[in-house]
This record gives sequence, C-alpha cells and structure tokens, in this order.
Amino acid sequence: MDNLEDSVRQIVEEVVKSMDLYQPKEDAVKYTGVFPNINNAIDAAELAYKELGKISLETRNNIISNIRKNALANKEIISKMAQEETGLGRWQDKVIKNELGILKTPGVEDLRPEAFTDDYGMTLVERAPYGVIGSITPSTNPTVTIISNSIGMIAAGNSVVFNPHPASKKVSAFLVGLLNKAIIEAGGPANLVCCAAEPTIESAKDLMAHPKIAILVVTGGPAVVRVAMNSGKKVIAAGPGNPPCVVDETADIAKAGKDIVDGAGFDNNVICICEKEIIVVASVADRLKEEMKKNGAYELNEDQIKKITQLVIAEPGGPGIEGAANKTFVGKNADFIAKQIGLTVPPETRLLLCEVNRKHPLIWTEQLMPVMPLVRVKDVDAAIDLAVECEHGFRHTAIMHSLNIAKLSKMAKAMNCSIFIKNGPSYAGLGHGGAGFASFTIASPTGEGVTRARTFTRERRCTIVDYFRII
Ligand code: NAD
Repeated sequence: MDNLEDSVRQIVEEVVKSMDLYQPKEDAVKYTGVFPNINNAIDAAELAYKELGKISLETRNNIISNIRKNALANKEIISKMAQEETGLGRWQDKVIKNELGILKTPGVEDLRPEAFTDDYGMTLVERAPYGVIGSITPSTNPTVTIISNSIGMIAAGNSVVFNPHPASKKVSAFLVGLLNKAIIEAGGPANLVCCAAEPTIESAKDLMAHPKIAILVVTGGPAVVRVAMNSGKKVIAAGPGNPPCVVDETADIAKAGKDIVDGAGFDNNVICICEKEIIVVASVADRLKEEMKKNGAYELNEDQIKKITQLVIAEPGGPGIEGAANKTFVGKNADFIAKQIGLTVPPETRLLLCEVNRKHPLIWTEQLMPVMPLVRVKDVDAAIDLAVECEHGFRHTAIMHSLNIAKLSKMAKAMNCSIFIKNGPSYAGLGHGGAGFASFTIASPTGEGVTRARTFTRERRCTIVDYFRII
C-alpha cells in the first residue's frame, strides 16, 4: 500500500488503531465512522441523518460526486485489500466491479417527483428518506456493496450503518473512513456512513433489533435473509441465486462459449448473478464445450469430476434442496482448486468445466467458484424446464443464448427472475457491457430487483384542491 495518499493512510491508521484497541480515540471515531459498538454507530448515524436533512440538494449532489471521485481514485487499493483479506476472487476483476458500482449506481437524479393534475387540482408525489438504514453486507462483494449502497442511500437522504461480513471487516472499515472523508470534504456531516469495527452475527442482530433503524437492507445468503425477514422491520432482502444458463441450437455458439467463460469466470464466480450451471441442447453441446475451452475453460474427466465434487460440495443440493458449497473453495482460482485433486492446469484457466447428469449436485448447489457444471438435454423446452427447477424459485438471475425469439420470451416468463440476460455474459445484466444502471444488491425475495436510490425512499404525496393546474 505504498501509493496511498497521506490522508488515506491516516484513515487506515486510525481505523487499524481503533480495531486494535477496541476503544478508539474519540476524535478518530468521529472522523472515520468506524465504531467499536454498533449502538454508538447507530446514534452517530442518526445525528448525521438529521444534519443531512438540513442541507441543500445541491450539496447532496456534490457529496455523491465526491464519493465517486474518491472511491474511483482508490479502486485498486480497495480491490487488493478485499482480495487479500477475504481470499476470494481476483483483484483485477474487483477493480472492474468497483468501477461499475462507483460510476453506474444512480444518484440524486433517480428521485424523480411525480405530479397528477385534473379537474380537482394537483397532487405531487415526492420520495422521502426512511432515516437510518441498517445494511448487512457480504464477503463476496465487500467493497462494491458498501459503495453502491452508500451512493443510493445517501442520494435518497438516508444515513447508513453497515454490519459487514466479519471476513471483510478491515477493508470495510477502511472504505467507510474513505467515504466519510469524501462526504465531509463535500460539505456533508460526519458519520453519514458508519460501521461496526468488529462486526459479528451478534452485532448484526443488534442492528436488526435497534429501534432507531428504520429499515434493513440485507445482501447475503439464505440464513441472513431468513433472520432479517423475522425481525419485524421492513426488509429489502438480496438473497442467494443459482443462475442457470441455457444454450439452444439457434445460438451463436462461438459467442455463447466466450460469454459464458467471461461471465462465469469473472471474479472467480463469487457474484450472485454469475452463470452457475449450463444447460445445453444436445445437438450443440460438443461445439459449445470446444468454444469454452478456446476461451479459458479446462474440461475435467469423469474421475476428476467425482473428486472435485467431493471436495467442493459440503451439502449436496438436489431438486427442492438448495445444498451448500465448501466455503474453503469459494472464490478460489481454478488452478488452485484443480491442484487439490492432484491436477495441474494452466494458471490462466478461468473455469473447470464438468459435464454431469441432471441430478448432479453441482447443478443444484450455489457454488460461487469456477467449477462449472454442464448438462445436455434433448431440446430447448427441456432446458427451460430444468432451468426453472434448479433455480430453486429464488427468482434471482437467469441467462439464455438463443436467436429464437419465441423461446427467449418463453424462458424470460418461465424464470420470472429479477434479471434475465439474453445473448451476453451475466455481468451485462448489471450494466457492464449491457444497458442500464448498476447495483450489487439485487433484491429478489422482497421484489425490489436491482436496487437504486428510489428503492431507499418512502413515497409521500401532497394534494392541493382546485388549484395549480396550469392548463
Ligand atoms: P453470508 O450469508 O455468509 O453473509 C452475508 C452477511 O450476512 C454477512 O455480513 C454475515 O455476517 C451476515 N450473516 C450471515 N448469517 C447471519 C445470521 N444468521 N444472522 C445475522 N447475520 C448473518 O454470505 P456471503 O458468503 O458473504 O455472500 C455470499 C452469498 O450472498 C451468496 O448466497 C450470494 O448469492 C449472496 N449474495 C446475494 C446478492 C444479491 O444481490 N442478491 C449479492 C451478493 C451476494
């Protein structure tokens, strides 16, 4: 971290000091937004929320711009720190991921008011903040989730207290310090973004139960979503997925092969929207595998698939059973995973391709690693049926490569997902090489979809009777 600006280095030192001592110095706490006790973080964020309400929209806009500027200047540092601390993914891909969240998360402009006029006058609908938001963030996208949430939540007029995944507490604290610095520099209040220095399941539960927390935003696996949904508070829940990728006989197979390796290999498959299983029509299966191999996939034989399954699956998924991956191998490089079964593959390998049958646990389990199952089926209708089943009703993300518009429409409807990507890598659905805005909190269980500033608002209306229609 030799290239750190002095001011950023100062934040790191303060954060590290606060974590070491558990009793950070008072002034350091004020500056960084990092608190040893989550209750203190919530109190500070409440004050910041009230201060934010007093400042102009122009200043709020400036705060968002300065967050983008500072985060962009530090995109490489936070990506390296995240990779080093969590041991997940590839830092070079995290740079792209962070940049996407920094530049394409909507800001204040997302809060468009609405007006209704008729013979009775006018009604104005505006979007108001909730207050202090409690946000629980994952180890898999530790920095971009905090950046994207902060931009959307502050743009909407809220403050936020994060309870990051314990495995990413240092980079999260560093980032929270960086964001606060940007906010203060742009004329905003201190502690608009706060976090627990030592986040735990207990501090997450305290956050969920705290009376000053207006709503919860939870990005993670099934357990945390379940707990949050039972909290009695309003929850925006971004839960797990198991995105199927269907390839039919009409697809551009060369493009599909490359897109799948690019999407599924990105950040070692830790993103929830990455392709998790390929379901291909038998007549084009061999060609698809060849194209994938040209682009960085390495195909395993039957014996190697058996060994790798034993290694990476902790609880086998199946029809109606979500299963669970072995966390030791989540987000690891393909060559590292291969080595554990005595197989040496080129270090540039992006995916370990495993052709399996439809009942195989690799198909049904959300692995979050570059071990990619492929199953061949007789036709596209069978592919869509299997895709619906192995997505487990998460309604999260699905991908299809096809030039048959009737089948593209059929799958879009059948999957009923927050994100459906046609003829592109999965990340196109988050605005990377695809149209639209970005966010890394995709709320499928509660239905908000790809979250944005307006997601973090309450609608309020004001009616004036008989007047203000100008026509
Ligand atoms: P995780 O569920 O282990 O942890 C997520 C967060 O929840 C962490 O902060 C963790 O400390 C907390 N947590 C976990 N169990 C909890 C409990 N019982 N009570 C309170 N807090 C708890 O997930 P992870 O491994 O960090 O991330 C991967 C998972 O998150 C995958 O399932 C992935 O699909 C999902 N995810 C979803 C989205 C989305 O937008 N839908 C985005 C990223 C990740």
